[in-house]
Amino acid sequence: MKASRRTFFIQSVVGISAIASGKLALAAEAVKETDPQAVGLGYKADATKTDKTKYPKYAAGQQCSSCALYQGKPTDAAGGCAIFPGKEVAGKGWCSAYAKKG
Ligand code: SF4
Repeated sequence: MKASRRTFFIQSVVGISAIASGKLALAAEAVKETDPQAVGLGYKADATKTDKTKYPKYAAGQQCSSCALYQGKPTDAAGGCAIFPGKEVAGKGWCSAYAKKG
């Protein structure tokens, strides 16, 4: 009885850490420019590569790190974005949902 409880506890701890590390790996996954949603929003990991003809609202200097939807610190190379849950966008990236941090 005791031994099986102990085994169960150990398995639970291993299971929980596997879930935790799985989440961490997911959070670090970068948004690819080729992801359908990224394509739809004109996301570029390098804001200066934005198609200015297609997205005339883009202005030089705009980038994820100064966007209201960016969840990283302004100095972070990459961070979460409310538009791309569970993934990270480049601090120097840009997409058409850009909203200047107020
Ligand atoms: S919504 Fe803002 S932070 Fe997210 S990808 Fe677009 S520009 Fe970057």
